[in-house]
Amino acid sequence: MTFTALASSSHGNAYLVDDGQTRILVECGLSHRKLKTLCGFTLSRVAAVLVSHEHKDHCQCVQDLLKDGLEVYMSYGTASALQLVSEDGEAVAEGVQLVGDREIVEIGTFQVVPFATFHDALEPLGFLISSTVDRENLAFATDTVNLQYRFPGVTMMAVEANYDPQILERCERIPEKVKKRIRNCHMEIGRLCDYLRQLDLSCCRAVYLLHLSDATSHEGHFINKVRRAVPQHVQVIACPKEGKL
Ligand SMILES: [Zn+2]
Repeated sequence: MTFTALASSSHGNAYLVDDGQTRILVECGLSHRKLKTLCGFTLSRVAAVLVSHEHKDHCQCVQDLLKDGLEVYMSYGTASALQLVSEDGEAVAEGVQLVGDREIVEIGTFQVVPFATFHDALEPLGFLISSTVDRENLAFATDTVNLQYRFPGVTMMAVEANYDPQILERCERIPEKVKKRIRNCHMEIGRLCDYLRQLDLSCCRAVYLLHLSDATSHEGHFINKVRRAVPQHVQVIACPKEGKL
């Protein structure tokens, strides 16, 4: 299984998960044109799209992807926030597949288990993605103040490492109100390390750090902190703000 960050920041998020037989796009928070360019015009190879929540940096081009005929999986709350559900809640836009907390879905050779996350969105989700081809499994969770599951046997983690509380505290150009929101909605590096320390990462080969804040993170320090929190064999990778397939 490969995990590729096409974009990872508050300006836009998009990730590809591929096991050689099935490719899934996780998040589509870029313009359609940009997304197509970054994935080398291979969107036609994408079997389905997963969207974690309704914030624009995670779902900007969802309408375009639905028009392309792709199936997009999201929670009922996310779909209603994006007005992809009729007002009476009965009809769902074509291509939208509703999923709930711990409701297993099969997409090609992948099994996906959505799980609840904690963010200022209607019904945000993370995804545990397992491949029947190589038996690898990836826990993906971004935009969440914390995590409640431990993912036994996980082989890859892709998790938000948004900010350093001390840098946030000192940052004068962020208004107090915004700081409060960040503290209540995003994962700070110390909390992430505490969480990772509790996990059995004996099968894990890589931890990908997502969504590092421009103003309140420090990539080098974050990588070092996470390295100290996980077993030595685990590779720690900070996803670039923009990448390519
Ligand atoms: Zn968000």
